[in-house]
Amino acid sequence: MRHNCKQGYDPLLDSGPHDSEPDWVSCTLGVFLCQGCSLLHRSLPHISRLKAARDPSWDTADVELVTSVGNVAAKAKYEQSVPAFYYRPKHTDCRVLREQWVRAKYERQEFMYIEKQEPYSAGYREGYLWKRGRDNGQFLSRKFILSEREGALKYYNKQDAKDPKAVMKIETLNATFQPAKIGNPCGLQITYLKDNSTRNIFVYHEDGKEMVDWFNAIRAARFHYHQVAFPGASDNDLIPKLTRNFMKEGYMEKTGPRHTEGFKKRWFTMDDRRLMYFKDPLDAYARGEVFIGSKENSYTVMPGLPPSTQGYHWQHGITIVTPDRKFLFACETEAEQRDWIAAFQRVVNRPMHPQEYAVEAHFKHKP
Ligand SMILES: [Zn+2]
Repeated sequence: MRHNCKQGYDPLLDSGPHDSEPDWVSCTLGVFLCQGCSLLHRSLPHISRLKAARDPSWDTADVELVTSVGNVAAKAKYEQSVPAFYYRPKHTDCRVLREQWVRAKYERQEFMYIEKQEPYSAGYREGYLWKRGRDNGQFLSRKFILSEREGALKYYNKQDAKDPKAVMKIETLNATFQPAKIGNPCGLQITYLKDNSTRNIFVYHEDGKEMVDWFNAIRAARFHYHQVAFPGASDNDLIPKLTRNFMKEGYMEKTGPRHTEGFKKRWFTMDDRRLMYFKDPLDAYARGEVFIGSKENSYTVMPGLPPSTQGYHWQHGITIVTPDRKFLFACETEAEQRDWIAAFQRVVNRPMHPQEYAVEAHFKHKP
């Protein structure tokens, strides 16, 4: 079957451009798919029956369905009421997000019937998640409650406990899928601020739908919080603020403020303007956090280390100059050095918002 891209192919079918030419057609749904999306659809044969676009055995009925539905019409039908806060995955997102999007859209038809959106739209959600313990790294079942009315996500250590073990304010909450780091296909990292320091918890649910529903419930709560905090802001202004992925993570070596302490290998996370380092990637809180401002405010990133530097093992240095001090890092490979510098440059080249000056001031007053 031949198709004309201008007519039949909607690049936003599974939200975000398909990552290749649409070589596949779902005969049951009547849509064109790229290679990446076709792999997802192939694992859901009860929803989607695939055929190569170039397959010579197309029969008239199939051709009629595809030409009569097509991607634009399918989108209008299956995505008629996607909530503004609902996360639309990209081709580069993890498997659970992409698979649950296809299932939500076609299998459960959640975006055709608003009553099916209750698990993430109600403003309240409770249930059990496997949470990684701080001390031994074991995952234990914990009760979680997300309440927009209380403005918080809470979890409880004991079934009958009255007081939550942690109260995470919706205002500073973030959630990002981290299957590789957590070692579970549904692994979710939740961060929040406590006394202006970042805290991490790591959770998962065996059921992909449950985990993605939690993720979207958190996004809904953040959306409604921001609607109140920024009245008059458009949905498009608010949506990027709901959850964020880290700009970069990985190991680097670092030394202390005197630069003579010797270099130690640490796990680094660049979360917007916060550079955090951890002894272990799954630590509950960072050993240190560094604020990375903008070049207008005297923050600079350069490759290499000052000539007198000693005690590093990795050869690819990075120097970050802040108004307070110089930070020296070393990367294992040139590629890592390049990626880290690119991540730092992105924030250094971006002018600071008024709120970010307040965050910077908090960092300066830290002991
Ligand atoms: Zn695609």
